[in-house]
Amino acid sequence: KEREHVMNFSPGPAKLPDEVLVQAQKDLTNYAGTGVSVMELSHRSKDFESIIQRAEQDLRSLLDIPENYKVLFMQGGGTGQFCAVPCNLMDLKPGRTADYIVTGCWSEKAAKEAEKYGSVNLVLPKTKKYTGIPPESEWNLNPDASYVFYCANETVHGVEFQFIPETNGVPLVCDMSSNILTRQVDISKFGVIFAGAQKNIGCAGCTVIIIREDLLGRALPNIPAVFCYNTMNTNNSLFNTPPTYSIYIMGLVFNWKKENGGVDGMEENSLVKSGLIYDVIDNSSGFYVCPVNIDCRSRMNVPFRIGSAEGCDVLEKKFLDQAAELGMIQLKGHRSVGGIRVSLYNAVTVEETQILADFMKDFLNKHRN
Ligand code: PLP
Repeated sequence: KEREHVMNFSPGPAKLPDEVLVQAQKDLTNYAGTGVSVMELSHRSKDFESIIQRAEQDLRSLLDIPENYKVLFMQGGGTGQFCAVPCNLMDLKPGRTADYIVTGCWSEKAAKEAEKYGSVNLVLPKTKKYTGIPPESEWNLNPDASYVFYCANETVHGVEFQFIPETNGVPLVCDMSSNILTRQVDISKFGVIFAGAQKNIGCAGCTVIIIREDLLGRALPNIPAVFCYNTMNTNNSLFNTPPTYSIYIMGLVFNWKKENGGVDGMEENSLVKSGLIYDVIDNSSGFYVCPVNIDCRSRMNVPFRIGSAEGCDVLEKKFLDQAAELGMIQLKGHRSVGGIRVSLYNAVTVEETQILADFMKDFLNKHRN
């Protein structure tokens, strides 16, 4: 297959912009006339130093990160941060909890991991049906919590916060793995933000952490050194060998975002793309069913069933097969929820999304009763 014939709607690792890949291809064998691959650069070299510094500067300018926030590049993915967050921020004194707002499988996993280290307070009633976010007036927040955790976009269930939770001074920790740099956010409202790279900001291997500096130095004594925010910060993320290639790719993606309208451009595109898909769903008279409440529908991952709310296996298989024949791939829903999931990260174009929306309309016309 040729790349130009494939439309990749993968939930991650996700499609990267063509311009990024073309540049990476050049630098793979000879980085900026150094005669070595970008993969072969020493992490202590001047060349790599400028790669990591530029990546940080570009991220700072894209998100308007205030001076009193540090940017760290770490390994271990989003899952690593499920452990790093409690190890760095939990206070084990009686009465102090770590509060988790569980709205899907990723925040559920994060809460489960945190329970290994200390007392976790679930802010919302336990559920397995992740289709909405109860109103804030119903939340059970502990004013003495050491932090409040939430996931801004639940990649599997398609539940996205359209607001930043109010925590009345308790540090707010956010997993932005699947929607960082897709909308403007006021960084000063957060204690910690983390995001794995492989969806909206690069390839797998690196996790970005943005942390308010007064939260450094609170780690539990037995924390693994590579997960310690303070240690990583003191060493400018070079405590050990960092994921150099992944940081390099991330830098290219940040640059691409800057050249394509910045965060405002990404936000606008995300609304247009997700709107195209939700419009087809909403005008299908129940043929396509998205289980998520309208007020928290994700702009990044659109899950839906075909035929009924429970989904019709035959129709869903046919949909996936026909879409694949037309070059539209990676549309199968997560195995835990089934159905279809359309992932619309920043490298997916409006044109590709329009082709998918047209296919959905066509499929509807052929198969509606
Ligand atoms: N958080 C979110 C929102 C995710 O979507 C994922 C993975 O898809 C993770 C965390 C886990 O990330 P990783 O696979 O990098 O550990």
